[in-house]
Amino acid sequence: MKKTIKDYDYNNKTVIIRCDLNVPIKDGIVTDDTRIKESLESLNYLISNHAKIIILSHLGKVKTEEDKVKNTLYPVYLKLKDYLNTNIFFSKETRGNILEELVNNLKPGEIILVENTRYEDVPNNLESGCDEELSKYWASLGDIFINDAYGTSHRSHASNVGIAKLLPNAIGFLVLKEITKLDGILNENTHPYTVIMGGKKISDKTLVIDNLITKCDNLLLGGGMCFTFLKAKGYNVGLSIVDDDNLTYCKELLNKYSDKILLPIDIVTKDNKIIDIDSINNDDIGYDIGPKTIELFRTQLKKSKRVIVNGPMGVFEEKPFDKGTKTLYETLKENNIKTLIGGGDSAASVNLLGYGNAFYHISTGGGATLEYLTGKPLKAIEIINEK
Ligand code: ADP
Ligand code: MG
Repeated sequence: MKKTIKDYDYNNKTVIIRCDLNVPIKDGIVTDDTRIKESLESLNYLISNHAKIIILSHLGKVKTEEDKVKNTLYPVYLKLKDYLNTNIFFSKETRGNILEELVNNLKPGEIILVENTRYEDVPNNLESGCDEELSKYWASLGDIFINDAYGTSHRSHASNVGIAKLLPNAIGFLVLKEITKLDGILNENTHPYTVIMGGKKISDKTLVIDNLITKCDNLLLGGGMCFTFLKAKGYNVGLSIVDDDNLTYCKELLNKYSDKILLPIDIVTKDNKIIDIDSINNDDIGYDIGPKTIELFRTQLKKSKRVIVNGPMGVFEEKPFDKGTKTLYETLKENNIKTLIGGGDSAASVNLLGYGNAFYHISTGGGATLEYLTGKPLKAIEIINEK
């Protein structure tokens, strides 16, 4: 069990907390503050425990001087001031006198938000390259390090892995919740255990499939990725999305796990025709799973004790191609099946289609959760000390 934010005494200590405040910003205004709100629990805990708090976070990608202007954390600072009932200061530099003076004058319960850590990526990639000197500098500003940035936990950066190596450390409430929920469903011993996978590209998901297929009882495949499997079985898939580099991979998987894998038996095309998979024409493009497939998948889901969803069943952003994805969510909700949704677009689809509160857990970290589902430890969590 990893050390958590609750395992330290913060009286008169300076805490560096890595948050994920990487929110969408338009014209200097935060357009979705979900990630800010999710960071509040750990921040409020530190405030009420009299820590002096330094927040580090990245925002977007920063490769040039223009990127710096576009990706300042200042709008996030303004939002944080709305939500937190304490003095908050903004350090417009990521290191140097201004920052150090703010740190020296910080009182218990007060906060400094440091400018985007990725400013340090120009020109030498110091943050993203986990530079040792930069890690040492940031670590020198505090006594304890908390990693609460779940969404970047699969990356080894100076502001997460680099600092963690140098200070007593722990995970924050957000990271704790994510890994508790993920482990809660992955390690539970209930069956049938069903995995539904879809989304765009098979190449993004092969490592996830490799890990989950050995443990689950059924793997239901839809979305864009199913066409590579259908082609591997010899079907004509028309102009549907196919990843020819993975045809052999799909063939081998189908041979080895024929008893577990369920593929669509019909599809809906881009021009809204419903066709069986053995009747796809050369110019058809598959955009959703068909009604017979929905019934087949529903039957399997209803019997399941736990389900992991990674990837939508169709192009859910465009009606009516949200039907496959939506109907399966409805089935999971109606039957009260313990369901974990993982993947950036999957989480977005759940919210868009109105199932934001319907499930056991909707994981917020797209890439991080995908990596966790491959069975690998997340680097910035692995580095945190055990209790
Ligand atoms: P996640 O982020 O949940 O892991 P992906 O990024 O793999 O999911 O895929 C999500 C995208 O897949 C969505 O934008 C969706 O429109 C697209 N998609 C789903 N089905 C198809 C399809 N049949 N053809 C092309 N794209 C599809
Ligand atoms: Mg995605």
